[in-house]
Amino acid sequence: MSRIAYVNGRYVPHREAVVHIEDRGYQFADGVYEVFAVHGGKLIGEQGHLDRLGHSLGELRIDWPLGRRALMVCVEEVRRRNHVRDGLIYLQVTRGVAPRDHAFPAEADSALVITAKSMKPMDKEALCKGVEVLTIPDIRWQRCDIKSVALLPNILGKQQAKDAGAFEAWQVDADGMVTEGTSTNAWIVTQDGELVTRDISTSILNGITRLAILEAAAEAQVNVSERAFSVDEALSAREAFISSSTSHVKAVTRINGQSVGNGHAGELTTRVLDLYVDYIEGHGGPQVTDSWN
Ligand code: PLP
Repeated sequence: MSRIAYVNGRYVPHREAVVHIEDRGYQFADGVYEVFAVHGGKLIGEQGHLDRLGHSLGELRIDWPLGRRALMVCVEEVRRRNHVRDGLIYLQVTRGVAPRDHAFPAEADSALVITAKSMKPMDKEALCKGVEVLTIPDIRWQRCDIKSVALLPNILGKQQAKDAGAFEAWQVDADGMVTEGTSTNAWIVTQDGELVTRDISTSILNGITRLAILEAAAEAQVNVSERAFSVDEALSAREAFISSSTSHVKAVTRINGQSVGNGHAGELTTRVLDLYVDYIEGHGGPQVTDSWN
């Protein structure tokens, strides 16, 4: 079956999907993106992704390429045409095509690309197997709340992790506090049983999975502290995990080569994964999605 992509108003075979060489996304990384999880044939966190996309576009003064409803029709159509039951939808909006000049072009239509990818259905056992993370300095810009396609620090961090045999890198700010992973949010459970994830600011991306976990935890009366935590606190944590639309809730069992807790997925991590899955199956994603405004 050949994959189909959406490129600026047309559904085209994936291998023929191309953009102009003067697309500002290509030349300047002048664009933003979203990654939607598809679970059992349904898009997860649709409203949250649209609200976050609106935040990213608004902060960069890029026009919506289509209205929200029309955009979602295209997203769903790409999912349908690619027969994705479990997997991801990638959506990218750039400022469009214009002669190369740093300042915004006087006239350019924002450009829209949507692709889809099937993945294995969520496997709780695999998510609980546990991965290693490495801590690295956070060398990104000061607007990490914007989901920009400019991802070089994230790419370098992920590669550094991979080269060290780890799955993810946790970025650490100048105060020694963990911000987030290169493509995931970071969570720990302290020795006192406190579930902690960094509070929202321009230092991190507010994950849609993060939001769904917060709501699922609140519904189950599991307390979450939204605050910064240090590398030392992470190293002495009882449990740790990462969250994202791609990784869901994934146990972290080693940090910088050191075991977290007993080296196995923790009790609360496993519970949060169950709560998260039940929540997205019941609600389709987080309900409060305007935390960017
Ligand atoms: N933080 C960063 C830097 C990311 O790139 C991502 C996802 O791509 C996340 C967090 C998790 O966000 P979400 O849960 O919306 O996938």
